[in-house]
Amino acid sequence: MVHGGAGLWAKDEKRAGRALKEVKEVAERGFDVLKSRGALEAVVECVKVMEDSDCFNAGIGSTLAIDGSIAMDAAVMLGSKLDAGAVALVKDIKNPVVLAKLVMEKTAHVLMAGDGAMKLAEHFGLEKANLFTEYRKKVWEEYKERFERGELTYLSANLELLRKMEVGTVGAVALDSNGEIAAAVSTGGLTLKLPGRIGDSAIVGAGIYADRWGGCVATGIGEGVMRLVACKEACLFMEQGLSAQEATEKVVKRGLELIGPDYPFGLIAVDCEGNIGAAHSTPQLCWAYKKEGMKEAISSLSAVRV
Ligand code: ASP
Repeated sequence: MVHGGAGLWAKDEKRAGRALKEVKEVAERGFDVLKSRGALEAVVECVKVMEDSDCFNAGIGSTLAIDGSIAMDAAVMLGSKLDAGAVALVKDIKNPVVLAKLVMEKTAHVLMAGDGAMKLAEHFGLEKANLFTEYRKKVWEEYKERFERGELTYLSANLELLRKMEVGTVGAVALDSNGEIAAAVSTGGLTLKLPGRIGDSAIVGAGIYADRWGGCVATGIGEGVMRLVACKEACLFMEQGLSAQEATEKVVKRGLELIGPDYPFGLIAVDCEGNIGAAHSTPQLCWAYKKEGMKEAISSLSAVRV
């Protein structure tokens, strides 16, 4: 199961159509990898493909921070042993999710940030890329002008502003035939974020979690997702016997009760019985999935809106 971000895709029909088509292709590809190489390789492959597409806010096409830079967060998690790897504030590299996987597999650490993470990327010879797209630059320029005119104050960039922004964080969760559950996530973070800001996608438990009972990844405004520890909570609900759908809905509902009635975020999840779940408070969530017995993947711009 994959997602290409919660938010307002409908304001640009062409972009929405492209995202929908791409997530469907990604789910197809992920399913093939799942069958041949298992859950971890499948989720990493899915996220990698979406990082390489300029359609999403991850890798190429990441959103710009207030100073015009791009700093990305990513993570992977493997449910059976609670193995996890995450990176924060990484620049210039094409596939932050690959670096997160290397942190998990080749180091004794879980979360690497900034310069240290970049040194690791260099050590492993990760491919660099120009991540800037005309589209994101245009959005950044529009808002920058408004900041300069004093219409907006970025230290307190308000929710209303963030709500209208382009999202498009990407994530994937999968269960393979050995019962292994894996999750992966990658993002450029919030448009116009302050330099140094780290979002939920780098934080195990918040933007990503996988254990023996389920896997979950989040999208939306990360500050709330972090305070909720949303993905761990969803997995806990699955451990208690809720299905992936019930668990995601319950976490989004709790988020709205505890943080605010329309706090924008969304979750996708897979439980250990292979059920999928997706819920969001945002107008839309771009997602797709494929499981055994399905001829082709199904994609949609909405799931259960809480
Ligand atoms: N959750 C991401 C963050 O806050 C943004 C997103 O999902 O679009 O960094």
